[in-house]
Amino acid sequence: MPGPAVILKELHRLRRHIKDLEVKTEQAPKQLATQQKKLANQEEAFKQTQEQLKTLGAEIRDKEGSVKATQAQIKKYEKQMDEAGNRKEYDTLKAEIASEKAHVAKHEDEILTMMAETEEKNAKLPEAEAIVKKARADFAQFEKDQQERLARFVEDKARSQEELKAAEATLEGDARLKYDRLVAAKGIEALAGVTGRTCSACYTEITSQMLNELKHEMFLLCKNCGRMLYLES
Ligand SMILES: [Zn+2]
Repeated sequence: MPGPAVILKELHRLRRHIKDLEVKTEQAPKQLATQQKKLANQEEAFKQTQEQLKTLGAEIRDKEGSVKATQAQIKKYEKQMDEAGNRKEYDTLKAEIASEKAHVAKHEDEILTMMAETEEKNAKLPEAEAIVKKARADFAQFEKDQQERLARFVEDKARSQEELKAAEATLEGDARLKYDRLVAAKGIEALAGVTGRTCSACYTEITSQMLNELKHEMFLLCKNCGRMLYLES
C-alpha cells in the first residue's frame, strides 16, 4: 500500500489531466468559429469576384448600346449634312459628328479595358472556385475531427474521474481530511511536486528532513506555499 505522498502524485496527475480536458473542451467552440470565419471569408471573396463579373458584363452591354445609338445618330447627322441648306448648318453638323465620334472612341476604349478585365477575372475563377471547394471540405473535416475529439474527451474525463475517486479512496485518515479541505479551496493548486529539493510551485527549497519524509511517502505541506507535496521522481 503506497503512502500519502505517492497517492498525492497520482491525484495531482489525474486532476491536472481532467482540468486539461475541460480547458480543451471549452476552447472547442471558439476554434470552430475561427475555422467557420475563414471559410466564410473565402466564400465571400469568390462571391465578390462573381458579382464583379456580372457588373462588368452589364456595363459592357450598356456601353455597347450607347455606341450603337451614337453611331446611328452619326449616320443621321451625315444624311442631314448632305441635305444641308447653308454653310452654317453644315459646319454645326460637322462639329456634332466629330463630338459624337470622340464619344464612340472613348466608349470603345472603355469597353476594351473592361473586356480585358473580364477575361482576367474569368481566367482566375476556376482556381478561386477550387480554393472555396477545398475550404468547405477542410471545414467539414475539421468539424468532424473536433466532434470525435470532444467525444473522446468526454469518455476520458469520465474514466479519469472514476480513477480519481478510486485513488482518493486510498488516502486515509488525517491526510484525507486535509486533502479534501485543501482541494476544495484551491483545486489543482493545492498540490505540488518536488523536483530535486525544490517545490515546483513556489521554488522554495525543502529541508533535508522534509525530503527524507517525502521519501518515506509521508503527508507533507510546503512550508512556504502550503501545497501538499510529493516527489516528482
Ligand atoms: Zn511551495
